[in-house]
Amino acid sequence: MKLELDGVSKRYGTATALDSVSLTVDDGEFFTLVGPSGCGKTTTLRCIAGFESPTAGTVRFDGESMDGVPPEARGVGVVFQNYALFPHMSVGENVAYGLRFVDPPGGVTRDERVAELLELVDLAGFEDRDPDSLSGGQQQRVALARALAPGPDILLLDEPMSALDARLRERLRQQVKRIQSELGVTTVYVTHDQSEALAVSDRVAVLNRGRVEQVGEPRDVYHRPHTEFVAEFVGENNVFHGVVRRSLTGQRASPGDVVESRLDPEGVVVEVDGHSFTLEGVDKSVGESLTFCVRPENLRTGTETNQIRGTITGTEFQGATTRLGLDWEKTELTVVVADDGDTTYEVGQELVVGFDPDAAHVVE
Ligand code: ATP
Repeated sequence: MKLELDGVSKRYGTATALDSVSLTVDDGEFFTLVGPSGCGKTTTLRCIAGFESPTAGTVRFDGESMDGVPPEARGVGVVFQNYALFPHMSVGENVAYGLRFVDPPGGVTRDERVAELLELVDLAGFEDRDPDSLSGGQQQRVALARALAPGPDILLLDEPMSALDARLRERLRQQVKRIQSELGVTTVYVTHDQSEALAVSDRVAVLNRGRVEQVGEPRDVYHRPHTEFVAEFVGENNVFHGVVRRSLTGQRASPGDVVESRLDPEGVVVEVDGHSFTLEGVDKSVGESLTFCVRPENLRTGTETNQIRGTITGTEFQGATTRLGLDWEKTELTVVVADDGDTTYEVGQELVVGFDPDAAHVVE
């Protein structure tokens, strides 16, 4: 089932929760809405499910407008953040509750369908258990089984893991991903956790204040953020604002290239807070202002070019890497260094890092 949002806006009084959101989710796709608290993720999901009507714009399923179609007639399964299992019903009854409006698909009985779904979420034989006797992760899998029981065309997941601890979250999201691709159900997943979004999605949409900032495959959004907001939110990038002082002309590559000789990418020298940095592959004119970002792992000790001399403000040991806060000019930078077990980093210590001219990425 293909899902489209066409200029969907939602206003509550004078507050705008969604501002003309247009998105297309392909049949069978795992699509994630990611963004900070209050950016409109849940509102988007509620408009798709039919719990809310858009103030403007249209939601379409396979090209058909959902205007006026009530939630129970949309063929949508929803899993919320807080399990929402009925405590007075057994696990089996909770899953069967998903079948109250429809017959089980595939011509099986209700009991057979419940057993099928519990098996799918690795809870075979749990029919008679009390929801209270299950762990958080198990309860959330029951909620998933209940949402999937009627065989929905679209699955909506609203921060389903946020109440779980980190390890469990990782396991459960792999399980959800496996089940989703096994069933091929079009899925919209909501999270404020960018690493979760990058880990499981076919594509992600980054939302900011009710608007779509960027849509793309995780790798694309991470490596090629279009805006400063996406750069900071998805890649935890270090953002620099500068002015182009000099333009470096392109040079012909040495003759004898197999395909054809080419121009090397243009470069510029940018001034940021009185320091000069050389950036490659940037086509900007002298005098223009420029915002560029460098990912924490690309600010390296021992790099000769584009050096930055800062003071360590914080260290966080993360196992294979150590994350450092670095105070430089008016900016607080983040640096991720590989941990060799010998080098120590102390707060207050001076540290010189640098970055390669092609490690910088220009954003709007
Ligand atoms: P979170 O991650 O915190 O759940 P979210 O991205 O899901 O946030 P929404 O819940 O969609 O964000 O809210 C978007 C904006 O709309 C917020 O500013 C919120 O305060 C506002 N909003 C949502 N529902 C209502 C409502 N029923 N009445 C008034 N304002 C609302």
